[in-house]
Amino acid sequence: MPALVYVGLGSNSGDSEGILRAACAGLAEFLRGLRVSSAWRSAPRYVLDQPDFLNAVASGECALEPPELLRRCNALEAALGRDRARERVKGPRTLDLDILLYGSELVDLPDLKVPHPGMTERAFVLRPLLELDPDLADPRSGRPFAVFLPSVETQGIYPAGLAALY
Ligand code: AMP
Repeated sequence: MPALVYVGLGSNSGDSEGILRAACAGLAEFLRGLRVSSAWRSAPRYVLDQPDFLNAVASGECALEPPELLRRCNALEAALGRDRARERVKGPRTLDLDILLYGSELVDLPDLKVPHPGMTERAFVLRPLLELDPDLADPRSGRPFAVFLPSVETQGIYPAGLAALY
């Protein structure tokens, strides 16, 4: 059974706008009926001496099992210039794809945790996610994601003002 999947996109190295556009086109090959939020800019977290990120969230129906979906996302990151071997942990990256939600399934594999563990603490995930689906709830707790917004209010994030990414 296909699942409604949500993927977070981020880039702060190279032509981030072009990379996110290409990433959306790539995601559309395995996420049917792809919808993409508007583009947001967010201040870096954890490692602060790096450029702002360009972020968005995409969603579509996925017929792949979660490990295969992760493999396809990692292949897309690599195809768009990501070389994990050469980058700093939490530092600049050409493309980061995070599987945020896989329907209401809870996935707990060594290399894949879904819902993405940090998603409720990140404004750059919550704002575009809620733009796509304002009433979406966290399958772990049943709580609407919107309840987490006040706690991320102070994180620097603003609309990028770009034409639709997809
Ligand atoms: P990052 O360097 O931030 O892109 O981290 C990617 C690593 O996190 C990958 O090696 C994945 O195996 C692991 N990972 C765990 N859960 C997820 C998830 N929900 N989405 C994407 N990567 C994940």
